[in-house]
Amino acid sequence: MESGAIRDVVILGSGPAGLTAAIYTARADLRPLVVEGEPSSSSDQPGGQLMLTTEVENFPGFAHGVLGPELMVSMRAQSERFGAEIVTEKASKVDLTSTPVGIWIGDPDAAEPTIRARTLIIATGARSLMLGLENETRLVGYGVSTCATCDGFFFRDKRIIVIGGGDSALEEALFLTKFGDSVTVVHRRKELRASKIMQDRAFRNEKIKFLWDSVVVDVLGKERVTGVRVRDVNTNDEFDIEADGVFVAIGHAPSTQLFVGQLEMDEAGYLVTREGTKTGVPGVFACGDVQDHVYRQAVTAAGSGCMAAIDAERYLSSLART
Ligand code: NAP
Repeated sequence: MESGAIRDVVILGSGPAGLTAAIYTARADLRPLVVEGEPSSSSDQPGGQLMLTTEVENFPGFAHGVLGPELMVSMRAQSERFGAEIVTEKASKVDLTSTPVGIWIGDPDAAEPTIRARTLIIATGARSLMLGLENETRLVGYGVSTCATCDGFFFRDKRIIVIGGGDSALEEALFLTKFGDSVTVVHRRKELRASKIMQDRAFRNEKIKFLWDSVVVDVLGKERVTGVRVRDVNTNDEFDIEADGVFVAIGHAPSTQLFVGQLEMDEAGYLVTREGTKTGVPGVFACGDVQDHVYRQAVTAAGSGCMAAIDAERYLSSLART
């Protein structure tokens, strides 16, 4: 990466959205620079959320499934094959008011941006909120999941725990009843936060049980999940429940801190896009989970990465014409 240079395309993030945008813009000869963040930082996840999964069976083209990290290594190699440059560093500041936009890598107090870009594709993604328990982290992909659509299939006839009391938790629980033998929603209060319609559906479903006023204080199991330890918040009593799967559904947080005050966001902090992947700043596009809290799938992220690349390409062509 040549410091101080002006690039046609800079992409922030290297999940399925960012790397698909890289593949498309690289094939269009735009030599994209992908700034993927640093693995050591608590907020970035180079390669995206698939780096935290095991088997992926619903990404089209892999009849026998593929491991999440393997899929991302392959997407990365595909983008590099066509000339994408990937740097494993953190974007620390952006200035979207200048044209071309400025991106700081490293010291955010430096007088000049490290790099300038005629188009910026934001694919910084979102992360699932987790309880923060040591064994929960250790068993992600081995019974602990944050995505029922992705992993529900692996829990056929199994005992499943869902943690949370919002729409996501009930949506996951309802979906999981197609597979699981039983689904127990563990919620820290006695009232659900979820919408009335979702509550009604969940209460009507015979497979779903609720454990109220309860917090999960540990996830049990050596190689795979075997259960959870729960504390009753009223009595402080702790007890274990046997389970094969634990779905954590306590919300998501988009990685949009860098853009606060510069780009329009919804009330949950997701970037707002219009007409495909356009943000309110000309030449700045957003794709993947950073602007999508509805679908959140690798394939939809990849699809919107492709859209962002095409939107960026067209924007650059329009600049060339003026
Ligand atoms: P949410 O509404 O913020 O709910 C998060 C739930 O997790 C809450 O019940 C919260 O408990 C619980 N929680 C948070 N931190 C916790 C912790 N550390 N330990 C235990 N429990 C914890 O998040 P969401 O369900 O992901 O929904 C986000 C938004 O997307 C909402 O606006 C929702 O309506 C929308 N959404 C809609 C649909 C749909 O319409 N089909 C589906 C999914 C999401 P408390 O209630 O005690 O705070």
